[in-house]
Amino acid sequence: MSQIKILLVEDNPGDARLIEELIRETGKTEAAITDVGSLATALSVLKDSTFDVVLLDLSLPDSQGLATFTCVQEHASGTPIILLTGLDDETLAVKAMQQGAQDYLVKGKVEAELLVRAIRYAIERQRLLVEMEKAREFEQHLAYHDVLTNLPNRLLFYDRLAQALTHAKRYSGKLAVFFLDLDGFKELNDSRGHTVGDRLLQIVAQRLKSKLRESDTIARLGGDEFTILLKGINNADDVSRAAVKILELLSEPYLVNDYAVTMSCSIGVSVFPFDGEDAESLIKKADFAMYRAKKQSKGSFQLYNLSMDVTTFKKMSIENSLRTAIAENEFELHFQPQLSLKTGLVTGIESLVRWRHPKLGLVYPGDFIPLAEETGLIVPIGEWVLRSACGQLGIWHKAGFNQLPVAVNLSARQFREISLIETVAGALEDSAIEPGGLVLEITETNAMQDLDYTISTLEVLKEIGVQIALDDFGTGYSSLSYLKRLPIDLLKIDKSFVKDVAKNMDDGAIVSAIVALSKSLGMTVIAEGVETRDQLEFLKSVHCDCMQGFFFSEPVSGEELPQFLSSNGVPAGVSSDVTVAEV
Ligand code: C2E
Ligand code: CA
Ligand code: CA
Repeated sequence: MSQIKILLVEDNPGDARLIEELIRETGKTEAAITDVGSLATALSVLKDSTFDVVLLDLSLPDSQGLATFTCVQEHASGTPIILLTGLDDETLAVKAMQQGAQDYLVKGKVEAELLVRAIRYAIERQRLLVEMEKAREFEQHLAYHDVLTNLPNRLLFYDRLAQALTHAKRYSGKLAVFFLDLDGFKELNDSRGHTVGDRLLQIVAQRLKSKLRESDTIARLGGDEFTILLKGINNADDVSRAAVKILELLSEPYLVNDYAVTMSCSIGVSVFPFDGEDAESLIKKADFAMYRAKKQSKGSFQLYNLSMDVTTFKKMSIENSLRTAIAENEFELHFQPQLSLKTGLVTGIESLVRWRHPKLGLVYPGDFIPLAEETGLIVPIGEWVLRSACGQLGIWHKAGFNQLPVAVNLSARQFREISLIETVAGALEDSAIEPGGLVLEITETNAMQDLDYTISTLEVLKEIGVQIALDDFGTGYSSLSYLKRLPIDLLKIDKSFVKDVAKNMDDGAIVSAIVALSKSLGMTVIAEGVETRDQLEFLKSVHCDCMQGFFFSEPVSGEELPQFLSSNGVPAGVSSDVTVAEV
């Protein structure tokens, strides 16, 4: 053995010297001995250097007994430890050996030969232990990996998939299983031999490993079949992007033992939670989809669930991320102007919420308000809308558009929320706008649900001073006598009636009747969804007060709106003779 590095921890200088002499005495061993006299110095030396063996006296000035051993063992990371004990504490030494000390020597009874042999054996035993541990690890590795490619094998893939499923179920996540099969691999194997086939499989494995994320598990099930587990997917786009990437990656030419080989692969994909709940069925379905892909066209991919389109995904991911959307500041308001049909002036603005989703882009209220209603998230979202709209109105008023009212939509749940009145009052107070500048829109259907509640709530809101609009009117089949009992300022004719107003006599008659009725009740009538000049002319002819719709303007952002007003020459509230025909 070459030089042995020994750490000698012994506070008695006489004992220390003796040990050193004994080691040198045999002359067989060249030893580099570092001698320290306390636990503290021993630990600090162990931090900076490594040793082949530690000779340790258990009773030191700063530590006694078994504690000395455990502390050194902790810091000596795998270095064998031989104890030096007095005659009277052999029992202690035995205990230490049970805890991993390699040997013990009784001070005063040690001869040179014995000491050196003990040191050598301790080192040798430790080396064997480490090797055995390595062999055990290797065996473990073999049990869970494919020998040819060193990728996880079927067993490990199932394991990881099962784990990922547990996690995905708990956090309502999604994951995809890709089943890959090389096209024409068998032919290649038959014609060029197994060595070429094996090498190709290794290159495929390397390519997959190099391009996929660390968190994705790639496995070889056997033959030319590979599976991939993709975590953290959000939508169908994520899946197809990954599939296309893999198809491209594997279709690049291979150089195998000086042969140029081209090879494509077919991929089938199954997705949790749509296609299955457990590893077994997800793999089976991905396999099934792979066969379909192969049959249809080699070098392509297929989702198991053909009807799994972007919408299903969209709905799922919306539910997940809606919860964090407020905190992440992802909502924004767009504003659609309303116009007087008589003067052409802008008479009001409706605020409409949008959600700028980090992955899906701009999401419209139709795609998340119902879900927000279901989950109750509409309450905080609605409050945000109310506050933002009032805040924005404050800015416009300061900019000179000081007669402009802004409308905010209230959903059914919001309207029934106990804190509604408080929220409205708070928003008004914080933005310091006149209450009359705020219009609250509730749909006819919503208003009719519990008439007593509606009347009493609207009355309180009227007392605060806000205006009330009845939205989507005509779709709720309300009894007209009810209408009379509601304290309503504005009535909005639903766009479904406006759509064919100029073409369909019935719709024309309905709109005309609604206008007449509302006027007799002292309400202002706004026709929604006006898209064409014909519609506009008809509405004018029946003396409808106002219109809102794409014909004049789509909903625009808060910054765009004032510019929009000015460029039309009609700052709100400033009287002019501009007629709608000129707009
Ligand atoms: P709504 O209150 O009836 O709002 C009018 C909807 O019609 C808006 O759709 C608007 O963009 C659209 N629209 C405007 N002019 C035209 C037109 O000429 N033709 C057609 N075809 N459509 C037009 P949007 O913004 O997608 O909002 C849809 C619904 O979502 C709203 O219907 C409202 O019920 C709800 N919503 C929007 N913002 C909020 C909000 O902040 N809170 C609540 N609770 N609901 C909201
Ligand atoms: Ca509305
Ligand atoms: Ca409406």
